[in-house]
Amino acid sequence: MKHLFLRDKHFGCVPLTGDIFITEGDVERDLAFARRLGHDPSRARTLSGSIVHEIAHRLIQHRVGFFQEHDLPVWLREGLCDYIARDSILPAREALEGILGRRSIPSSLTHGYLRRACATYLLRKEGRSIDELLDSPPLYDKIRNRVVALMESDPEGFLSWVGENESIQTY
Ligand SMILES: [Zn+2]
Repeated sequence: MKHLFLRDKHFGCVPLTGDIFITEGDVERDLAFARRLGHDPSRARTLSGSIVHEIAHRLIQHRVGFFQEHDLPVWLREGLCDYIARDSILPAREALEGILGRRSIPSSLTHGYLRRACATYLLRKEGRSIDELLDSPPLYDKIRNRVVALMESDPEGFLSWVGENESIQTY
């Protein structure tokens, strides 16, 4: 059976049963891989972070309902889960350089990081709560523009509030 729940870009998923599936993990190196990104450790996530990310989806499903979670904007649900897991494919500095066009990084990777940065911004800089964000999701474009503007105007400041060292790099 090839793709039961997991699509090529996914590291894991939580189906209706509540079980957590990880596409492919390396327990010893604490790495998780998505099919689309292959086995390049610089394009892996941590296995521990991936598990926490999927648990965070489950917790959000408990809060809003299984199907309602899927109705939330993708940026919000993925951004919150990455925020909770403190895990992304890209470390903060690399993501920042990619988003600001100082380094060539596939936009699919920088988009993922930007979602987490937006969730982090709303929670840490605007003092919003997760409940508030789930109840009335803000418009992504507005928040993203604000976050990118902060990255441009004060990159080091951005790295300090976003938690530069929170991306665990195990390779
Ligand atoms: Zn997810």
